[in-house]
Amino acid sequence: GDGVLVLMDLGSAVLSAEMAVDLLDPPVDVRLAAAPLVEGAVAAAVAAQAGQSLDAVAAEAAGGLRAKLAHLDSGLSDAQVEGSGSGSADDSDSVSDRFVVTVAQGLHARPAARFVRVAASFEGVEVEVSNATTGAGPEPATSLNAIATLGVREGHELVVRARGAEASEALRALRDVAAPGSSPEPQRGGNVISGVQETPRGTVLPDGGLRGIASSPGIAIAPVRWLGSDAGGGGGSAVEARATGTADEEWAALREARDGVRDEIAQRRELLAARVGEAEAEILDALALTLDDPALLGPARTAIEGGASATVAWTEAVAPLVARYQALEDPYQRARGDDLADVARRVAERIGGAGAARGADATDAAGSTDAAGGAGPASEAASPHILLARELTPLDAAGLDPGVVLGIATVGGGPTSHGAILARALGVPAVVALGEPLLAVASGTAAVLDGDAGLLVPDPDQATRDDYEARRDEAAKAAAEAGAHAHEPARTRDEVTIEVAANVGGADEARDAVAAGADGVGLLRTEFLFLDRDQAPDEDEQVALYRAAAGALDGRPLIIRTLDAGADKPLPYLRLAPEQNPFLGLRGLRLGLARPELLATQLRAIVRVAADHEHVKLMFPMVATVEELRAARAALEEARRATGAAPREGFEVGVMVEVPSAALIADRIAAEVDFLSLGTNDLTQYVLAAERGNEHVAALADGLHPAVLRLVAEVCDAADAHGRWVGVCGELAADPAAIPLLVGLGVRELSVAGPSVAAVKAAVRILDTAAAGELASRALAAESAAAVRALTTDGAE
Ligand code: PEP
Ligand code: MG
Repeated sequence: GDGVLVLMDLGSAVLSAEMAVDLLDPPVDVRLAAAPLVEGAVAAAVAAQAGQSLDAVAAEAAGGLRAKLAHLDSGLSDAQVEGSGSGSADDSDSVSDRFVVTVAQGLHARPAARFVRVAASFEGVEVEVSNATTGAGPEPATSLNAIATLGVREGHELVVRARGAEASEALRALRDVAAPGSSPEPQRGGNVISGVQETPRGTVLPDGGLRGIASSPGIAIAPVRWLGSDAGGGGGSAVEARATGTADEEWAALREARDGVRDEIAQRRELLAARVGEAEAEILDALALTLDDPALLGPARTAIEGGASATVAWTEAVAPLVARYQALEDPYQRARGDDLADVARRVAERIGGAGAARGADATDAAGSTDAAGGAGPASEAASPHILLARELTPLDAAGLDPGVVLGIATVGGGPTSHGAILARALGVPAVVALGEPLLAVASGTAAVLDGDAGLLVPDPDQATRDDYEARRDEAAKAAAEAGAHAHEPARTRDEVTIEVAANVGGADEARDAVAAGADGVGLLRTEFLFLDRDQAPDEDEQVALYRAAAGALDGRPLIIRTLDAGADKPLPYLRLAPEQNPFLGLRGLRLGLARPELLATQLRAIVRVAADHEHVKLMFPMVATVEELRAARAALEEARRATGAAPREGFEVGVMVEVPSAALIADRIAAEVDFLSLGTNDLTQYVLAAERGNEHVAALADGLHPAVLRLVAEVCDAADAHGRWVGVCGELAADPAAIPLLVGLGVRELSVAGPSVAAVKAAVRILDTAAAGELASRALAAESAAAVRALTTDGAE
């Protein structure tokens, strides 16, 4: 219904096509494109199938020549290619934006996939992107591989050009994806390994142990087992030969194989979302997008038309793209080439008829993806083992069962590979980059894997085995003991009760936290309710969400933090002007005061919930001054008046202390609130001027620095003088080295991630507040974070 795109070859065809258009009655929107016939048609069909506009389809067709040019390394310049398509309009009707990319690691898989999806969501807007730092591009923003192989790293300058009715909105939304405010995307679940390490060669230690890179903590002791086609260290994947059919048959075979892999990815995505959550499952979305990438399908179709088999056409279309990834400078982005190669291999195997069994084992009981690979009968594979692989791909990792795969060791890979990220999220100890020596370890060999030290010890002697068994059992015992008492209050030896609550993003997490022993919720991050939508939730919607969280807590305290958007949590629908330093800009309460209706709606919803649930509390984020607090309290009074709601018992109003100024005037603030909750994540970044999440200053941003602890002490003293209580809801609250100090300084509530509740309670129970106070005094006098850590270790001994 949008119109027709006509592709022509030479001169006379142009004339005939133009005449045909003239004769059309009634007139139809027809574009004549100089795009290459086969690549252009395929690229156009894929774009049209994705629901893109006629303009976008025409642009995609015009870009169809690029893959061939890149492949043949033709001397034609980009300008000539641009000029060859009627879809590439002149620049007079385009708008452009130039900015520095701030997402961690640049436009790699997930941000690149988000970028492509956002670009495609603007119907009728044509977007192209260049990497101004390296000179790569321009590339169409609707091709994942084109975007990913621009090699855009954090700190690179990007030029985005858009044409169409909503071009400016598209630019703004794309900037929000690539430069959301200078902070990296949050890595949820598992340790965050910051920085990118080059893979060192694996080393064999004198005792026969192999050294690699520690990439997921913990100890595993079990026989090893090679993953599927890597079995025996042979590596390589055999793609079955099959007779080549007609072009239509080959194209159909490729489509079927892609559909099969798409289903395989979907299955594992579901499994992964259930096991570790949505954020990690998104890694697989990027892989699924790869299957429909015009940059792959165009050349594959051309080769098939030229008589190639589906396998050859597909493999050869993938190779130059993988090579482009491998030529990138950044090892993290290079690793995305491995992900693409893995998906492509699975497609090739399916074309050859070898992939179906592999697809099925995502849900079988084998525990790892090796059941189909000939490494032994499924029953053997189902026994607990340490999985060995050349590389652990995201799809392999997504399909494994942590109950059976006790550890992972790989020849190559790095701690930032998606496989490694997923291993951490699944809680499976892993060591990567063990190098060639690992290939000599045969399936069935007994081994010890130390995910903390980055070691694999094949055939350990009895003393080594005993030592590791003792360490593993001790850690398991401590965890079991903490778990057994998770639902009891955390009382110090001298009978001071410390409330151990949870930080959550919604009702489901609140329910999980209660099951994990949390005494309540110390921080409901309401921004999660506002993200990933087109507009803010209305009052009734918010009431329903907060009520669900309160219901899940069954009378336990629920601290609802008002919206903390801005900085690293942008809300595109608020259409805020870009800021040079968003962490010092319009975020938290500042945004609420600048957009009074946003804050007022939320406050009305909160007081309505507080009127039918006890112990609902509210706190304001990013308070820097007494004036802000007073303005927020005035808005709260107005919300009470407007709703007529009378909050029930236990309703309290507090502030987050996360800006140094608030800590320094805590006496003034404490006079006007019921409690203070220290947001040590932000407080630390502001005190040490070390942006949270920036790996270059990660070591500096240590909340145990005496400068931070002195502010904690100041806040506790000021609160005590006014009879108010102090909590900590930053990450520091779960740090075993920090717990004695925080309690010693007077903190009485620790709010941590749900899975940490049991361990934090256990850490509180061994404390004596007087001794902790003495230790804290010494920490305040220390000269560095390292000195404080040394003190707490000595103190604990
Ligand atoms: C903090 O800053 O410590 C905090 C808990 O808030 P957030 O991490 O959500 O900024
Ligand atoms: Mg904060």
